[in-house]
Amino acid sequence: MALLTTEALVLRGYKLGETSKVVVLLTREKGKVRAVARGARGGRPRYQSALEPLSEVRVSLYGRQGAELLRLGQAELLHSAFRVGERGLDAALFLSSCAELLDAFSPEGEAEDRVYRLALAVVRAVEEGADPALVLRYLEAWLLRLHGLYPPLDRCSSCSRALPEGRLEYHRTAHGFVCPACGPASGPVLAAEACSLLSEIFSRPPSTLAGRGEPHVRALESFHRDLVSAHLERDLRSPRVIREATREAAS
Ligand SMILES: [Zn+2]
Repeated sequence: MALLTTEALVLRGYKLGETSKVVVLLTREKGKVRAVARGARGGRPRYQSALEPLSEVRVSLYGRQGAELLRLGQAELLHSAFRVGERGLDAALFLSSCAELLDAFSPEGEAEDRVYRLALAVVRAVEEGADPALVLRYLEAWLLRLHGLYPPLDRCSSCSRALPEGRLEYHRTAHGFVCPACGPASGPVLAAEACSLLSEIFSRPPSTLAGRGEPHVRALESFHRDLVSAHLERDLRSPRVIREATREAAS
């Protein structure tokens, strides 16, 4: 009997032997798990396209409770990420960033229903035509907030007084935004447009985000990258890959 049958998002896979692979899954029931998919590679791969990153699947997992590596039984494809990847280079790169972020933030074996629903919502938003760069900022912001890592937008992180409207000034030592009285802040400073994008991110679904111009999206990207790296104590791989691919495409 299967240990667990659950919906899951495929995060990534790596080779194991000649014909198998290990898949990393974000499951709805148990959070992140690793499972051996026997026969997933080779001439007649058993699971076909069900194990592509960010595909939504229903899986049966076998093994012992608490084991580090489970065994994948059935994997039924519920929703393929193929249509997202088909939208072009930006959307394909979005999928790899999205999978890497979810992998980096998800603890093994611990279900986080809000993260699971967030992941579904961002993939669907890009599939339906939302701007991949905006939706990635959405995912970063929410992953940081759900893990208690996003500084408050309305209170000074040093003296707790209300912050003035408009731009936000980050101060590294205070690990948050500070008011003018607690400055000068180390930076970065988020301009009013970037701040209004942020409040939209925290109050609306990802499919309804309106653009604020590329510089503001990029300002958030670099701010989030600092917060993510500080938390993980390492840099993620995909932002660099995206920068290189974008340069390549432009040249
Ligand atoms: Zn203050």
